Amino acid sequence: MPTSRPPSSPGLTIEPLHGIAGSPGVAIATALVLEPGTGRIPRRTVLKEEIPLELERYADAVEEAKAQIAEVHTRVAAKLPAEHLKILEAYQVMLGDPSLASSVHAEIEERNRNAEWAVEISVQQIVREFDLLDDAYLRERRHDVEFVGDRLQRALAGNAPRSVGAMRLTEPGQTRVRRPTPPLGVHVAQPTIVVAHDLSPADTAAMIREPIVGFVTEVGTRTSHTAIMARALEIPAVVGVAGALASIRTGDIVIVDGLRGEVHIRPSTDMAARARARGDRHFSRTQLLRKRLREPMTLADGTRVVLKANVELPTEALLAVEHGAEGIGLYRTEFLYIDRKEAPSEDEQFELYRTIAQMISPRTVTLRTFDLGGDKRSPAISIPDEANPALGLRAIRLALREPALFMAQLRAMVRASAYGELRVMVPMVSSVAEFRECRSLLDRAIAEVEAAGHEHGELPLGMMIEVPAAAVCADLFAREAAFFSLGTNDLVQYALAIDRASQQLASLASPFDPAILRLIANVVRAAREANIPVSICGAMASDPLAALLLVGMGIRELSMEAAAIAEIKEAMRRMTLEECEVLAAEVMTLATAAEVELCVAETFAPRLSDLLGGEDLTAPPPIVSSRPPPIA
Ligand code: PEP
Ligand code: MG
Repeated sequence: MPTSRPPSSPGLTIEPLHGIAGSPGVAIATALVLEPGTGRIPRRTVLKEEIPLELERYADAVEEAKAQIAEVHTRVAAKLPAEHLKILEAYQVMLGDPSLASSVHAEIEERNRNAEWAVEISVQQIVREFDLLDDAYLRERRHDVEFVGDRLQRALAGNAPRSVGAMRLTEPGQTRVRRPTPPLGVHVAQPTIVVAHDLSPADTAAMIREPIVGFVTEVGTRTSHTAIMARALEIPAVVGVAGALASIRTGDIVIVDGLRGEVHIRPSTDMAARARARGDRHFSRTQLLRKRLREPMTLADGTRVVLKANVELPTEALLAVEHGAEGIGLYRTEFLYIDRKEAPSEDEQFELYRTIAQMISPRTVTLRTFDLGGDKRSPAISIPDEANPALGLRAIRLALREPALFMAQLRAMVRASAYGELRVMVPMVSSVAEFRECRSLLDRAIAEVEAAGHEHGELPLGMMIEVPAAAVCADLFAREAAFFSLGTNDLVQYALAIDRASQQLASLASPFDPAILRLIANVVRAAREANIPVSICGAMASDPLAALLLVGMGIRELSMEAAAIAEIKEAMRRMTLEECEVLAAEVMTLATAAEVELCVAETFAPRLSDLLGGEDLTAPPPIVSSRPPPIA
């Protein structure tokens, strides 16, 4: 457990740390290192100027916990004997105990710990003192101290800064804020780069309203949900940086180079100037590309390809169209659940889906039913701890075990279909039986909505193809599903048996692997024979070289983070369908991912070098893509 350390002293040049380019762009700012904690208690070193705020948060938490206990006291006063009420009174006294307060103050003021961490340490100290007592009765009182600590942690969590999950749309363009419990109590006053061992998707989402300009994590890959979220938020990120916590200290100036996958600690003036120039070049290039966003998307020979946006947060829907998206190809609805204690109600979801349907209309919005489980957990739904959560109760499996929650979501989608072009998409389907169960639940939802007198429109039901079983049996699914969308992030994970968050194995988890290409080809063939649309919404779609290969394989619709659309559009404009098809035929004869990558790079990279950051893609290390910066 690292303790708080001062920033590194100036004068030393430190070797850059290398990781995976998780989200493009270059950021230079002060680091905030999030110390790994136990459980859900956020531990972090606070800057000097944050100390008064942490003290205030602690004082507020004490008052709130006292008020809650007083409220319980009033409620049960008439029902409980006096000796039980005394326990509640004792809790009040403990909350106001000056020795607890002075210990917490010392932890915050002298050791620069955030309020949660300070409370955790102070409570543990008192508990240890109780443990040493001879009197068994008094020893047992340790539980009361722990209870008081727990009340304080809850109050602090409710009193943490607002998160992105707090935002939901009520009218087009208008936002409303509710008061959630964000996963991490991170709040900063100045541009900051967050350095952490890991950030859950909820942690990352929670930072949107803070001036956080970059992320560095020790774990993760380009397809881990944290990197996906960073790209959605257009915040430069380097993930999978081994040793980041040991090397970077809170207060250090850090460069996050999300183009090269490098982190520079306390850079020299020269180094910072070069990084800034690189960031500026990236910015100008993407600004240039964005000027052509309104032009229709065609290959050099006029072949039409549709580019849509992946959306995680309601606010991104607004940006999708600005970025030239021709609809939303993947709306990850699980992000509505991840940072809140109660699942969103049917009405709340209906309003949100309706707003988005209207905002995107006449384009289509593909709403994916909640893909919770794995690394996306919600306090609103209890999911047992499993040895392999990615192979466990996740996505549709969880939805079918929680029919009340699933039906509420389906009804909300059905009602919203009266206001725009919506499609429902089911994640992680692995058997036809499972898909049929979804079909009958959606039919039931439609019947219930009709019985309640609500209007609805057409609502095609399709599925993600992201489990190898579904890709292999695509012909069977194509008889029942209205459309397919390839989720290559999970398809790679499950087909190659490589955890998508494992930076150790990231270089092996290639979507160019012949096994993946064969699965995709099988899905495209099945969809074509059954005459149903097939698209791709995995991160493979936002790599310019991979996107061209996919078009050559027969895919005509790609969905990606909105900020990547301009670049993919430009890459496609430069090639003809014939070139893409010839390449696709050639790579199907190759035996390894490296051979495929080299073949694709040799064919197209020379004509895309400006988009690919000028890297030499015919030499290892493999492809680095670049993404545009945020639209101002
Ligand atoms: C995928 O698996 O490719 C996908 C798009 O879904 P997610 O990244 O949300 O798991
Ligand atoms: Mg997936």
